[in-house]
Amino acid sequence: MKILITGGAGFIGSNLTRMLIQETEHTIINVDALTYAGNKQSLDELADNPRYRFAHVDICDAKRLSQVFADFQPNWVMHLAAESHVDRSIDGPGAFIQTNVIGTFNMLQCARTHFEQLESDTKAEFRFLHVSTDEVYGSLGAEGLFSETTPYDPHSPYSASKASSDHLARAWADTYDLPVLVTNCSNNYGPYQFPEKLIPVVILKALKGEAIPVYGKGENIRDWLYVGDHADALYTVISKGNVGETYNIGGYNERTNLELVTLLCELLDELDPRADGKSYAEQITFVTDRPGHDLRYAIDASKIKRELGWVPKQDHTSGFRKTVQWYLDNTKWTKDILSGDYQLERLGSK
Ligand code: NAD
Repeated sequence: MKILITGGAGFIGSNLTRMLIQETEHTIINVDALTYAGNKQSLDELADNPRYRFAHVDICDAKRLSQVFADFQPNWVMHLAAESHVDRSIDGPGAFIQTNVIGTFNMLQCARTHFEQLESDTKAEFRFLHVSTDEVYGSLGAEGLFSETTPYDPHSPYSASKASSDHLARAWADTYDLPVLVTNCSNNYGPYQFPEKLIPVVILKALKGEAIPVYGKGENIRDWLYVGDHADALYTVISKGNVGETYNIGGYNERTNLELVTLLCELLDELDPRADGKSYAEQITFVTDRPGHDLRYAIDASKIKRELGWVPKQDHTSGFRKTVQWYLDNTKWTKDILSGDYQLERLGSK
């Protein structure tokens, strides 16, 4: 298959692209605008691979995007490009509306034009996978799980823009018969995550000997999924999923933020102990909560297991251990990123 991936220079996209090149025979074009979150270095090892191409294109630029479709003639599209950080969406929501809403609209229109001119056999196998988040469902109390039929109730500019893009994707399926699939996934973690998100922030602040910030009292609960498991789930959905369906993807791994941060400190204590012999947990500092901070997200991922046979491979701590070790082993990657504009400062506190 020829697969057009958007956002392949980002966290999940780079892990997905690497997996597809290394573990399948498919050919990939990675369409990415290289925003602050995109990093070509994350895919350095693929640069000379004849099945991998990079197109430096903004999905808000409909003209250039349609040229990519016309030149590459994809069999499948995996749409991941987005503005993805909730805290940034509080400071500057405009970019989220542009990329997540208008950019997705452009993707759907280009895919539709491309799809409509395909011959019947390639038309039958064409798929458009829209990659989204569980944050569109809003916040849960102490009990319950998000299922594929949970009503949408987004609270941040980020989740509202993603909810909007999900509705567009489904509308293009219903109105124009575009073969769309949608996935809504819980929080990802793992190698190559931009160091503004919770897990890399904790690891890097800990190693720098700085205060490790925990929002509010650290009571917010998230379900955590290892990025390699998410990449595997996305490939499962595009290759085996039923057109028009939505699949929730989760890690069966709920933790309060404080439990998670404590676990990361314990792993660091073991893998790279502090020189003074004390625990990194001593650096934990509670800071003002995020405005509109959803209390709990939790996913019912039984549909994708039942219908497509996907379950996560990493258990409750193995993925976190791999992640801590990766950040310890790849200091150049983070050092290069932190030499740019972003230097681990707090965002989105109003
Ligand atoms: P990321 O911020 O790490 O990467 C986003 C990528 O998209 C970057 O490479 C960036 O350069 C690119 N991009 C941004 N705007 C663009 C534009 N206008 N045109 C072309 N490229 C553009 O994001 P991520 O964490 O890898 O998330 C990928 C997708 O998965 C997003 O759609 C996100 O909503 C979704 N998702 C993420 C998580 C998570 O925990 N990270 C969980 C569920 C779903």
